[in-house]
Amino acid sequence: MRLVLLGPPGAGKGTQAALLSEKLNIPHISTGDLFRANIGEGTPLGLEAKEYIDAGKLVPTDVTARMVKARLAEDDAKNGFLLDGFPRTVEQAEILAEFLKEQDQKLDGVLNFRVSEDVVVERMLARGRADDNEETIRTRMAVYRDETAPLIDHYGDAIINIEAEGEVEEINERAMKALGK
Ligand code: ADP
Repeated sequence: MRLVLLGPPGAGKGTQAALLSEKLNIPHISTGDLFRANIGEGTPLGLEAKEYIDAGKLVPTDVTARMVKARLAEDDAKNGFLLDGFPRTVEQAEILAEFLKEQDQKLDGVLNFRVSEDVVVERMLARGRADDNEETIRTRMAVYRDETAPLIDHYGDAIINIEAEGEVEEINERAMKALGK
C-alpha cells in the first residue's frame, strides 16, 4: 500500500505510522525523522534544514522533495510506503503525484488524523522535542492551517478520516479498520 499520513503537528502521526508500518509491512518514511537524522550527522542538508525546523517553518520544498524522492527510490519502498510529513503543501502534493506517475504508481489513500488544537499542544509540550517550545508550536500550527490543511480538499475522495484522540491502540485499530484490515 502507498499511503500518506496527514494531520496537525502533534497529532500522533509518527506513533501511528510506526505501528502501521509493522502491521502492513511497509516502510515508515518520515521527513521529520530524515531531517533529524541529517542534523544529527551534521550533513549539509541537515545544516540547511535546522534553521527552518528550529523556527517552526517549512524547509524549502526543493530540498525536502529531493530528500523524499531519494528515499522513495530505495528498494524497500518499491512495493509500498507510509509517508509521514510529506506532502505538507499543495505544491509538494503535485511533486509527489508527478513522481508516482513517472513510475506508474498511485496512492491508495490519505489518512487524515483528526485532533483538537488543545490536545495537540498538550501532546507536543509533553514530548519536549527541541522544536517543541511554545512559540515554535504556534508557528507550526499556523503553517499547518495555512499550507497543509488545504491538502484535505486537494485529496478529496482519497481522504480517510481517523479520529485521533484516545489511546494509541484504539486509534491504531480505527486506522486498520478504515484500511479494511
Ligand atoms: P510535526 O509532526 O510535529 O510537525 P515533524 O517531525 O513532522 O513534526 O516535522 C518537524 C519539522 O520538519 C517541521 O516543523 C518542518 O520544519 C520540517 N519538515 C518536515 N516535513 C516537511 C516538509 N514536507 N516540508 C518542509 N518542511 C518539513
